[in-house]
Amino acid sequence: MLALQLALLSNQEPFACDVHLIESRPVPGPGLAYTARRPEYLLNVRTEALSAFPAQPDHFANWLRVTQSEPCQHGFCSRQSYGRYLQQLIGQVLEWPSTNGIRCQWHNQTATGVHVAPDGKTATVRLTSGAEIRSDYVVLALGNFPPAPPAHADLRYLTRRNYHGNPWARGALREIGLGDSVLLIGTGLTAIDVLLGLRADGHHGPITVVSGHGRWPAAHLPAEEAYPSFYATRLAHLTRVADVLRAVRQQIQEAAQQGIGWRPVIDSLRPDLGRIWGAWSLAEQGRFLRHLAGIWSVVRHRSPPQNAAAVQQMLDSGLVRLEKGRIRAIEPVADQLVVSVQTGSGQPPRQLTARHVVTCTGPLLDYSRISTPLVVGLREAGHLVPDALRLGIQTDADGALLNAQGEVSSVLFTIGASRRPAGFESTAVPELRNQATELARELGQRLRMQQ
Ligand SMILES: Cc1cc2nc3c(=O)[nH]c(=O)nc-3n(C[C@H](O)[C@H](O)[C@H](O)COP(=O)(O)OP(=O)(O)OC[C@H]3O[C@@H](n4cnc5c(N)ncnc54)[C@H](O)[C@@H]3O)c2cc1C
Repeated sequence: MLALQLALLSNQEPFACDVHLIESRPVPGPGLAYTARRPEYLLNVRTEALSAFPAQPDHFANWLRVTQSEPCQHGFCSRQSYGRYLQQLIGQVLEWPSTNGIRCQWHNQTATGVHVAPDGKTATVRLTSGAEIRSDYVVLALGNFPPAPPAHADLRYLTRRNYHGNPWARGALREIGLGDSVLLIGTGLTAIDVLLGLRADGHHGPITVVSGHGRWPAAHLPAEEAYPSFYATRLAHLTRVADVLRAVRQQIQEAAQQGIGWRPVIDSLRPDLGRIWGAWSLAEQGRFLRHLAGIWSVVRHRSPPQNAAAVQQMLDSGLVRLEKGRIRAIEPVADQLVVSVQTGSGQPPRQLTARHVVTCTGPLLDYSRISTPLVVGLREAGHLVPDALRLGIQTDADGALLNAQGEVSSVLFTIGASRRPAGFESTAVPELRNQATELARELGQRLRMQQ
């Protein structure tokens, strides 16, 4: 999306600039989420909020119509359709030179390191081929990393074929036999994808789902009228989580008295979430993560209604069982995995046995634990600094990286989930396309000043 936005910058004073897009997947554009090859994996955002261009909200919906892609039930399409949309858009940018002089080329390579020049003004990106690309700006758009291991006592399970630590890996569920017992860790959107995938494959073995809060994502309802923002009147001056919670609850009650549900009230917060988060001290942000992040993700990252209904059906039929508790250990025993689950204080852990365990706890955000050579190199050189709450990378408001001395880089930027420390909600397309638009504008200005 950043490449698309760079190609769209004004052509009044043409740039003389190359954009190198480095992507290790065989196709650029769809990334991890939209490379999904299964039609049952749905977008969790309605079509109208998914245009790649914030200024043209109908763009994706029109693309679906023109290309006669699948009909979208309840306004939710498959992720693979969205992947095709992104692939086509980036394909056009790669094929045709942009009228503003920006030339974009794709390197089907993995970036293994970035060396920042001693004056901090340029950087050289190293690729697996051994090639090096010197650049004035390097944007880390690395996406999501597989979930963290759920248990730490005995790590033997990590190497077992029946432990599935990366639910998004290609063919991740292929090893699961149709009658095998399965235990899923987590009840978020990834767990729902796995359940739907297993169901589509004809899996009929028992499935246990373990989660700390024991709640499934709330379901989307048919689109409701937008609720007016109450940020300026009720929230702008609040610096404590408890006060924000109280004000939001009160607003939900007032809306209910007018016959309006909680969903539009929560959705009205979306444009201001970054400001609400930014007004909290580190201690308050930590408090939110400890006590409210779980319920927030239930109400905020909602499930398409057809997915929620399918999960309910699986629960009602007894095929899927939900257990509330925390994973303490996973131990391989013969060809099974024995999972210790702490269900309540003072109770001894329950032992659950399954043939397969799939971790569905969401992406690892802690950049102090990410071990790809690119990230390790930047971290060890002090150019990339994980934030104290381990949500991503320390940046300024434009996404420029802060180094170990707290200085703002003039060459390294990031976009996407890595920017959670600055705005918390930095996950879904509606936020990320705005980041892309703003960063393209910022880089465009800097490029013009250099010319
Ligand atoms: C399973 C899943 C489903 C999701 N569903 C939705 C949804 O329905 N709606 C929504 O709004 N959001 C969804 N999201 C959130 C999603 O992360 C964003 O919408 C968006 O796709 C993120 O884009 P990105 O470019 O930051 O990351 P990605 O699209 O993942 O792109 C990052 C790319 O960087 C490449 N890469 C990483 N390191 C290197 C390297 N060293 N060298 C070369 N290439 C590298 C990776 O191969 C990857 O393709 C989902 C996320 C996941 C994980």
